[in-house]
Amino acid sequence: MPASVTILLKTAIGRQSCLLCYQSSDELLCPWCQQDLCLFNLQACSYNLLLWPKIRQGLGEIRYQRLLACGEYQWPLDKLIKGLKFSRSPRNARALADLFYEHVLTHYRPWPQAIIPVPLHPSRYRTRHYNQTMEMAKRLHQRSGLPLAEVCKRHKATQAQTELTGAQRRRNLRQAFILTRPVPVQRVAILDDIITTGTTINSLCDVLLQHYPDLQIEIWTIAVSPLHQ
Ligand SMILES: [Zn+2]
Repeated sequence: MPASVTILLKTAIGRQSCLLCYQSSDELLCPWCQQDLCLFNLQACSYNLLLWPKIRQGLGEIRYQRLLACGEYQWPLDKLIKGLKFSRSPRNARALADLFYEHVLTHYRPWPQAIIPVPLHPSRYRTRHYNQTMEMAKRLHQRSGLPLAEVCKRHKATQAQTELTGAQRRRNLRQAFILTRPVPVQRVAILDDIITTGTTINSLCDVLLQHYPDLQIEIWTIAVSPLHQ
């Protein structure tokens, strides 16, 4: 793992427990668990995972120009993402956003001009009172200075994607988003915690491109699922 990632995951708060093994640690992830992070070599694919056949083949049709992720959805990223989603842990949001910032953004330019976090449907937000993607987006905004653009919302309650087949996912997500505000820039990054089939992202891209056909879109995500590779 790059030294910069190790440095970044340190906190100034003092000793706490590692998010993965719960041992006392000065860092959000202890040095042993940091060794377990199998991160993508993004330099080898020119900072675009769409150029890596293994990843590209699993995504089917795409509506965006670039895909960036830290690694595959496997230990230990899967545990950190589950903790973010289901335990609503702000420490997980911080660790994952910092990991993305250090492993991806510090090495890659030019950045898009704004970050669009994938919105949660209001009914799901009312149940959870938490949007894990927004928590990571806020941290990335802090680190990068890039503005957050909340320009879309979901207008249909969608069934949890993980429970559905590919065809069901596409039906479930058809026209799931609507544009609520103008997009004030030419290049945007859509942020999600994990990319599975890419149908959620494509649905969001469709809405943006309907209104802004020349918009350049890249996808930022913590992990891509190995289910489709
Ligand atoms: Zn640990």
